[in-house]
Amino acid sequence: MSQTIKTPNRTAPVIERVRLEPVKRNLIVSEKYYVSPNMLRIVVTGEELVGFNAPGADDNIKMIVPDEAGNMVMRSYTPRRYDASAGELEIDFALHLAGPATKWALDVEVGETAIVAGPRGSKRVSGDIDRWVMVGDETAIPAMARRLEAAEAGERITAVITIPSREDMQQIESAADVDYVCVYRDELGVGATDTASLIRQLEPMDIRAGVFVWLAAEGGVVRTLRTYLTDERGLDRRWIKASGYWVEGEADTTAKFD
Ligand SMILES: Cc1cc2nc3c(=O)[nH]c(=O)nc-3n(C[C@H](O)[C@H](O)[C@H](O)COP(=O)(O)OP(=O)(O)OC[C@H]3O[C@@H](n4cnc5c(N)ncnc54)[C@H](O)[C@@H]3O)c2cc1C
Repeated sequence: MSQTIKTPNRTAPVIERVRLEPVKRNLIVSEKYYVSPNMLRIVVTGEELVGFNAPGADDNIKMIVPDEAGNMVMRSYTPRRYDASAGELEIDFALHLAGPATKWALDVEVGETAIVAGPRGSKRVSGDIDRWVMVGDETAIPAMARRLEAAEAGERITAVITIPSREDMQQIESAADVDYVCVYRDELGVGATDTASLIRQLEPMDIRAGVFVWLAAEGGVVRTLRTYLTDERGLDRRWIKASGYWVEGEADTTAKFD
């Protein structure tokens, strides 16, 4: 049963946007391995990585890769981990029926070039937040993992993760008080655009002003969850940060809501 809770008068969080100088870098693939059955990690290195800066957990870079016709195209990815002293940047590719970025990740070999541009900007959320609820699919795991790893002791975060299988859950270190709620889609027989399995998890949760909800998944899923939170749970949209990380049936598409 969903509950309608009137949003008490409480100052909404601030989402601060910082512009970063966009830089295009020619790098070298130094490692490639599976993090889980459906997630491939590519590690890149190279002199041009010096000065890379992606301060926000959900910053994104553009991977510049060839399409089928050999034209260079861009796709958005999260810089999963940047280690300035080792000179390494990790990018995690959720595998699906291949578009050019997925195909590039599957085909690229250690020693080959990786072209990375950005990030162009970064967003920082601050304010009087009691708890975060983060909801994401496998494409959002890199950003969610960064947020959880960066969280401080005493922070409370609920991470609702929808993933292809139990084996795709990753070990994530966090100093925060984290509750994981996992939806294993193969066990439910549902696909990445299923929303009922996520709404079922959100229904019993205490969601109200004071709880900041971060959403990143397929565009239609995010739209449905956002509408559920605002219309059925009465959450003011200023307590939600929502991004469609991909759109079913459409190449090179993201959905913006903010
Ligand atoms: C801010 C941001 C950060 C992102 N970070 C990451 C990240 O760290 N890791 C990551 O894996 N993805 C991430 N994504 C999502 C990624 O950009 C898209 O999945 C992108 O479409 C993949 O490009 P492609 O060339 O493989 O497929 P496209 O050419 O874009 O699409 C080809 C087909 O595949 C479908 N498709 C695309 N993605 C998926 C998917 N995940 N599952 C099923 N079908 C899909 C499309 O609907 C289309 O029909 C991020 C997106 C954004 C906006």
